[in-house]
Amino acid sequence: MPKGILVVLEQYNGELRKVSLELLSEGRRLADASGLTLTGALLGQGVKDLASVAASHGADRVIVVEDVALKDYTTGAYTSVLNRIIRQEDPEVVFIGNTGMGRDLAPRLAQRLGVGSASDCVAVTVDSTYKLIFRRPIYAGKAYAEVATEARPILATIRPNSFSISASSPDRQAEVVEETATIDANDLQAIVKEVVRQASSRPELTDANIIVSGGRAMKNAENFQLLEELADTIGAAIGASRAAVDSGYREYKYQVGQTGKTVAPTLYIACGISGAIQHLAGMGSSKVIVAINKDPEANIFTVADYGIVGDLYEIVPLLTEEFKKQ
Ligand code: FAD
Repeated sequence: MPKGILVVLEQYNGELRKVSLELLSEGRRLADASGLTLTGALLGQGVKDLASVAASHGADRVIVVEDVALKDYTTGAYTSVLNRIIRQEDPEVVFIGNTGMGRDLAPRLAQRLGVGSASDCVAVTVDSTYKLIFRRPIYAGKAYAEVATEARPILATIRPNSFSISASSPDRQAEVVEETATIDANDLQAIVKEVVRQASSRPELTDANIIVSGGRAMKNAENFQLLEELADTIGAAIGASRAAVDSGYREYKYQVGQTGKTVAPTLYIACGISGAIQHLAGMGSSKVIVAINKDPEANIFTVADYGIVGDLYEIVPLLTEEFKKQ
């Protein structure tokens, strides 16, 4: 029986994360090309209804495991359940989003299974011998490595926004397999007591299609209001350079870069950011980069698709005004 493709589905606030839809869409394309079965693993509490969403995006089967211990992500409980599912399913490859959860989960799971993992991949191809090749950035995004592993299953975390989401087919059905959570007591050493969610109408940074990011040139926290107005006009998330975060203009969760979040939106607008290699490491694979900087020699212009040389305090309000007219 041919081995399958398993996608670890990530849900948040009652919805499948965008990256999970991307992984299902790419998984479907690979499954169609190779005759493999595409299975989603859906863990949580009260999440069963999301199986139909996974089906509409290409899953042939969805394994649903519901338990109070899985309501919020913990490394131990999720590793315990997924370790069992993966051993039982014996897939060829396991796709996990390279999100906060995925970056935490994949190494632990790989250790438990005794296999290697390819992290932060941006592309997957199949070579002439049907071997899966994973492309991942190295040296802070200056080069790419192509990785293949002999051990099975291959665990791979995939950078959000690396794959497009195929159109949903609401009539598509998947076999839904409900399983009981059997969690090793040793894996329940940490429990989540409370999750405090900050209300925000803006998209989550790593999921966002558009990001407006500010650097040291913002000068203070209040000036970020300028970027927020632009972001709200075009439905963008806000990001920041480390200099802006270290200066206290923005909280750490907004930091983009080597020691912050990795993003790959369709459009990244960098405002007053010089383009240090550590910043580029986090946003260099954005589809279209627009840079606004008053220094024509700024390094950000070497990666920008569109560069605007000028004062962001003049340019950003003009952009906002123009977008409001659309
Ligand atoms: P600057 O480099 O000071 O650039 C500010 C830019 O704003 C300049 O180009 C200037 O021309 C322009 N400017 C000034 N005024 C205006 C104006 N009015 N209008 C338009 N443009 C204007 N950095 C990150 O961002 N993310 C990371 O994750 C990260 N991790 C790091 C990890 C390590 C180990 C190290 C050593 C560094 C890391 N850094 C990171 C820091 C990085 O090296 C840079 O210091 C930082 O990215 C600079 O931020 P910046 O571009 O906002 O500031």
